[in-house]
Amino acid sequence: MRKWLVLWATTVIVAAGFAWAAPLLADPGCFDRKTQPYTSVVDSHFHLRPFGGAGIPLTELGDYWRQTGVRYVNIYGIGQILPENSTCTYYLNCLGTPVVPSMKNDFENAQDVAQTPTEGVNLTLSMTFPDLANPAGILDQMRQLDSAYPGKFRWMGEVNLIKQALSGNGAQPANLGSIVSWWPFMDELRRRDMPINIHSDLGDDADPLKFLYLMEAVLTLYPDNKIVWAHMGLSNELTTMDPALHIDTLRRLMDQHPNLYLDISWRVLEDSYFSHESIREQYVPFFDQYSSRVIPGTDFVASRNKDFAVYAEELDVTSRINKYLNDKAFRDIALGQSYFDLLGLPEQAPPICAA
Ligand SMILES: [Zn+2]
Repeated sequence: MRKWLVLWATTVIVAAGFAWAAPLLADPGCFDRKTQPYTSVVDSHFHLRPFGGAGIPLTELGDYWRQTGVRYVNIYGIGQILPENSTCTYYLNCLGTPVVPSMKNDFENAQDVAQTPTEGVNLTLSMTFPDLANPAGILDQMRQLDSAYPGKFRWMGEVNLIKQALSGNGAQPANLGSIVSWWPFMDELRRRDMPINIHSDLGDDADPLKFLYLMEAVLTLYPDNKIVWAHMGLSNELTTMDPALHIDTLRRLMDQHPNLYLDISWRVLEDSYFSHESIREQYVPFFDQYSSRVIPGTDFVASRNKDFAVYAEELDVTSRINKYLNDKAFRDIALGQSYFDLLGLPEQAPPICAA
């Protein structure tokens, strides 16, 4: 009898110990980096429309996102599209064919999103139409989209300030004069607290800071606008920049302009920079420090010659940097907290499980 009593008492004590210790051992609500994917749950830079030719239906893309665990997507058009009768799907394959800014994509995207259920995925519509070199009509065009789709557009971009890759297609870059006259629509964006994603090449391999003055002018003239710098200014024209110079430049801008955010989308960043260990080691501490203002994305362009495998690969490639981030930066960037905060969403990314 006494033996049974001891056994019973031991069992109660052990069970009570487990009940007390269990939350410390494994919080079911935490994210375990050892067993869960490193790919980002946010794709803040996704082009639903190709430059020309057929696109991928939104229902199919919904499957891509659910299968890869992407739950928040910014739906971009393409700022400069190829003419209606063009058979090109990518502007660089069709040099000489003029690209022109248009609202067509934005209307089509809004129509698609309104008509297509994409369960489990939160889509944010973005105004991609603005022609930054000719800003006079932008505020009016914003109102046209608003009256057709009230309250649906909550982001602007990707808009092109200077994109060298488009120069063969007659795209007109903005200059200091046009930046000064952005104020009517920038005022409106600020009033709505709506972020704008700007593609502005930092420079080229011969002169890496060639166009820095343009982005600096924007940041100085519009300090209260939430400005997201696409690809941190990098591009296929700038693949060999000294990372120390790039990071020093970014650090200075981030410190001077608290409303500046960095978009680390596009596989060029991984392929030309982060995949090299000695370069990656320089960027990781920078991202760890500024993670609440760093936003991930793929820069996938949904043209019909691509399929799920291409999207999954681009998500994987653009997410590889996440593996090296500290826990706070991983939660901010990969799990979406910086994106939620930027958009003012109530969502909270899960805490990271203790190692
Ligand atoms: Zn893009």
